[in-house]
Amino acid sequence: MRNNVSEQPRLAVIGAGLSGLRCAALLAEAGYAVTVFEKSRGTGGRLASSRLDGLTTDLGIPYIETRQPDFCQWLETHKTQVQRWQPRESDFSLSAAQVNPARELWVGTPRSSAITRALATKIQLRTETRVSVVWPDKNGVLLRDESADMLGHFDQVVVAAPAPQAAPLLDAVHRFQARAETVQMQPAWIVSLLLETRPEALAQTDLIEGEHPELQRVLRDSSKPGRSGEVWTLQASRQWSEAYLNLSADTVMNEQVAALVALTGDPLVVKAHRVHRWLYCNAVSTESSVALWDADAAIGVCGDWVAGGGVEAAWQSGTELARMILSSNP
Ligand SMILES: Cc1cc2nc3c(=O)[nH]c(=O)nc-3n(C[C@H](O)[C@H](O)[C@H](O)COP(=O)(O)OP(=O)(O)OC[C@H]3O[C@@H](n4cnc5c(N)ncnc54)[C@H](O)[C@@H]3O)c2cc1C
Repeated sequence: MRNNVSEQPRLAVIGAGLSGLRCAALLAEAGYAVTVFEKSRGTGGRLASSRLDGLTTDLGIPYIETRQPDFCQWLETHKTQVQRWQPRESDFSLSAAQVNPARELWVGTPRSSAITRALATKIQLRTETRVSVVWPDKNGVLLRDESADMLGHFDQVVVAAPAPQAAPLLDAVHRFQARAETVQMQPAWIVSLLLETRPEALAQTDLIEGEHPELQRVLRDSSKPGRSGEVWTLQASRQWSEAYLNLSADTVMNEQVAALVALTGDPLVVKAHRVHRWLYCNAVSTESSVALWDADAAIGVCGDWVAGGGVEAAWQSGTELARMILSSNP
């Protein structure tokens, strides 16, 4: 049922990550009155960034790798918020670091979350608001927060949260809920370090990836365009993160730094650090749909887990859901 005051359809999006904001921005552009609800303090979701002693560090995805031309073209048109990054890469043997011209890597400028912030210009953003109920009734789709307070009625609702957080919001569409409940999400510990000096063994290397029992990535945040200082990010390996999910942040910090010291052979002087645990880092999904839309319930779902996992899937999913909603409301 439409808003009486204006003919603009009212759309609510739950989740201010890339998928939700991509969908929100397209529908706002098409004339919808869009409200985005986000439980955290800002936009980004897994494109999160933080400050470390006044410097920038990306706590979520460290870079975006593109494979699909449409996503790549979209990034090309957002040159204020993203730039190409050409790190000197090596594996954990630390031998012969070099730029890999076959990889197209992008990073947010000045930080990852700039990408989602730029998508939030034509919408109403309500942060620190966790939606806990999504239920269609005679006035539209009703949303309530975790205190059971009403957030309003909407003509359409998009759920753009990671699968385990989306499932409880999908009581009204059981087949979407069942799908969310089958998705596995892998955790990851992240340790950001501000070092006094660059380790000698990493003097020529900006990005290390490959097989290692404790580390998945070691990355020099400060080598990204426009960054400064000596900020490094360690992403713990999937196996290590799963095995030590419940360690204290201090212990994780000590263990991960010890793994880096063992790798480089250099003692490290850490001036500042930040540790973050992602319970839902990567979606393990084998499904082939891109987005989910139920026109009768007026509820849709987008996100990386719907479209196969990864940042590109998140963007494709938000794009596709906007198209599905527009074609069901010409
Ligand atoms: C450390 C790390 C490394 C990664 N590396 C890679 C990589 O190498 N390659 C790759 O392709 N991808 C990688 N990813 C994954 C990639 O970042 C995600 O696939 C993508 O950002 C997901 O976007 P999304 O919009 O689907 O979900 P999210 O970014 O998770 O956004 C969902 C939002 O919903 C909010 N939310 C949840 N529940 C509620 C609620 N009830 N009410 C209100 N708000 C709610 C959350 O707070 C969040 O902001 C990585 C992620 C991390 C964290």
